[in-house]
Amino acid sequence: MSNVTRLPGPIAEVWDWQRNGACRGRDSAQFFHPDGERGASRARRENAAKAVCGSCPVRAECAAHALAAKEPYGVWGGFTETERIRLLASGWEDAAERGRYRVDVRRLEARLGLPTRVMSTAPPGVIAAQRRRPGRRPSLGRVPVTVR
Ligand code: SF4
Repeated sequence: MSNVTRLPGPIAEVWDWQRNGACRGRDSAQFFHPDGERGASRARRENAAKAVCGSCPVRAECAAHALAAKEPYGVWGGFTETERIRLLASGWEDAAERGRYRVDVRRLEARLGLPTRVMSTAPPGVIAAQRRRPGRRPSLGRVPVTVR
């Protein structure tokens, strides 16, 4: 279950990052596993979700949120459930910035022995259009946090 006691209150500027997620408008099934999913199919889905996160302008904020809230399910900030468990166990707060509202994702990837994800090379206009795309990702559309 998510831990909401460690999160900031309903301050719009703290949560505004959710509006700019690259996953907005995408099927949330790409980020959350169905019951019983394992092995290669799970790895494929997670890698596809992580690829979206890799070009996301708010990845640092999303990863910080998921770690602070101890989000139990899904890919957040480019980290899977298993990776977040490892980060929670090994420590992540030394990689936090701005009062724990952002994290240095490169540093956390290195801690996990993951290859560093390359940020999108899409032109700014494409990224801006991506940000304006309507839609929802249920887990990110709720403010201040999803409680499962
Ligand atoms: S899960 Fe987080 S990092 Fe990944 S695309 Fe969505 S908002 Fe961005």
